[in-house]
Amino acid sequence: MNGGIEPTVRLDGVGKVYGTGVSAVAALRDVSHAFTRGSFTAVMGPSGSGKTTLLQCAAGLTRPTSGSVSVGGADITRLSEAELSGLRRHRIGFVFQAFNLLPALTGRENIELPLRLARRRPVPGRVEELVGRAGIAEHVHRRPHELSGGQQQRVAICRALVAGPEVVFADEPTGNLDARSGREILGLLRRVVDDLEQTVIMVTHDPAVAAHADRVLFLSDGQVVNVMEAPTAEAIAAGLGIH
Ligand code: ADP
Ligand code: MG
Repeated sequence: MNGGIEPTVRLDGVGKVYGTGVSAVAALRDVSHAFTRGSFTAVMGPSGSGKTTLLQCAAGLTRPTSGSVSVGGADITRLSEAELSGLRRHRIGFVFQAFNLLPALTGRENIELPLRLARRRPVPGRVEELVGRAGIAEHVHRRPHELSGGQQQRVAICRALVAGPEVVFADEPTGNLDARSGREILGLLRRVVDDLEQTVIMVTHDPAVAAHADRVLFLSDGQVVNVMEAPTAEAIAAGLGIH
């Protein structure tokens, strides 16, 4: 259930300007939003509207020019680079359009890599539980090139979840998949939100993909211009001006 009201990620008046002087670009302007625990949010908007910048600011990959970002109650805009990289390693999961698995490692080794990098032992049974949930238990002994795109993305989702993060960020996670594999990935993200009370924030261009989320943030020119609850593909398409 999406019962929690405690925000996992909170943006307060976030602005981001790239460059200076005449070449300055305001990618985000005064964005405030609380992403609640156990919620699934899609971020949409035209190319150049600031979607990637919003994700990167929320994930501590880019520092905002103004405003603040908190993750799990901690203001991350005050952290040093070392503290930020520790936070990303322990409390934030990422899923990328291009999967970004290491080709020389098996699926299981890819999933366990964040723990090895953090010098943490897996919680007993945790990896088995994740790969079972993702339906890839029989496949994780293989290397990425021996897996389908959908299987590789399921490995990547397990890797994002293995350290028990506060929040998982996904940038076009179905962008490289066929429609059927894409639906399976969205079903998996939906279940991790519902069953594990995980928080997922996903950028997508596709109304049918965004319709799996609990709400959609629409960005235009660096600002949140609309928030749609319980979205349907039709309502999203209308909101984007697609008829
Ligand atoms: P979206 O993901 O919605 O396409 P972005 O967040 O990538 O939008 O970009 C928002 C605006 O910021 C665009 O005008 C883009 O050109 C600009 N921008 C993004 N990244 C940089 C950067 N590293 N340096 C300069 N301008 C950037
Ligand atoms: Mg982008």
